[in-house]
Amino acid sequence: MLASTSRPLCEEHDLAMFDLDGVIYVGGHAVEHAPESVASARETGMRVAFVTNNASRPPSTVADHLTDIGVPARVDDVVTSSQAAARVLRDRLGAGARVVALGTTGLLEALDAEGLVAVGPDDEAEALVTGYAPDLPWKDLMRGSVRVRDGLFWVATNTDMTIPTPYGVAPGHGVLVEMMRRFTGVEPVVGGKPAPPLLEETIRRVGGERPLMVGDRIDTDIEGGIAVGVPTLLVLTGVSGLEELVGTAPEHRPSYVSPDLRGLLVEHPEVSVDGGSATCGGWTASLDEENGPRVLVDGSGDAQAWWRAVLSVAWRHLDATGEPVGIDGLNPPEAD
Ligand SMILES: [Mg+2]
Repeated sequence: MLASTSRPLCEEHDLAMFDLDGVIYVGGHAVEHAPESVASARETGMRVAFVTNNASRPPSTVADHLTDIGVPARVDDVVTSSQAAARVLRDRLGAGARVVALGTTGLLEALDAEGLVAVGPDDEAEALVTGYAPDLPWKDLMRGSVRVRDGLFWVATNTDMTIPTPYGVAPGHGVLVEMMRRFTGVEPVVGGKPAPPLLEETIRRVGGERPLMVGDRIDTDIEGGIAVGVPTLLVLTGVSGLEELVGTAPEHRPSYVSPDLRGLLVEHPEVSVDGGSATCGGWTASLDEENGPRVLVDGSGDAQAWWRAVLSVAWRHLDATGEPVGIDGLNPPEAD
């Protein structure tokens, strides 16, 4: 069951940690309703932070990009998986430690900011850190892998298997991590979502007593929030959608779901359950056992209430049977 709140989420929480791709922007463009929703949340006094697993761009570059698309951001509002990885290394090794860095400028800057010394793959070091780096020479990767196999402490900035590029979805840093894992038999400590360091570092840097994680992916953003014990808002402007949601087990579910970031500015009313049906706003969802099982929806109202009623029925079915309901013919209303 989704959580409910009688106050807007931006009043219920004092820090929003936004994932970027699929939440704030897609490619070079702002997601619809994102700039004004972030601005309105800020006007209520909510702190905002922008968190990214992408380890290659320094926070200043990310902040400039955000500002360009209408979401004003300062460098301190941005926290990257490179910064989280550097923090992990500093906590474990102390300032001044030498670390083999296989990554780009974003990673080198983050290490430097934590007082760590980046060195090459053949140099004496106490640890090795890897990050997304399209120009990384294969020989450096070979040398680093052998050293990790032989016992050098390894931190990976993230385990994202894919990365969007101008020519389509391409292998991300997670593919390199997977390859090193297979060769070395070693599990790295990971900085980025869904591992805890990135969100822990964000809360430490930006502050806030009642944080909320906002993302578009269940497997990274929502899992990441759950891993640090923070409520989560899933927005449906990116990767995860209806089909994935109806099959999501209780321990992986978001606290709140909204078609877009305007869900941050409104209350999330309770769903009332009566026998096999669930009502929210003007919508009533029920289970059609004969032609499915599938979810039937009657009524009218806003899109967010539709999702709350539908997911209530779908999740009760999943929890009772272990099988997701069919979603054929189930079309979310347009959010207006
Ligand atoms: Mg995303």
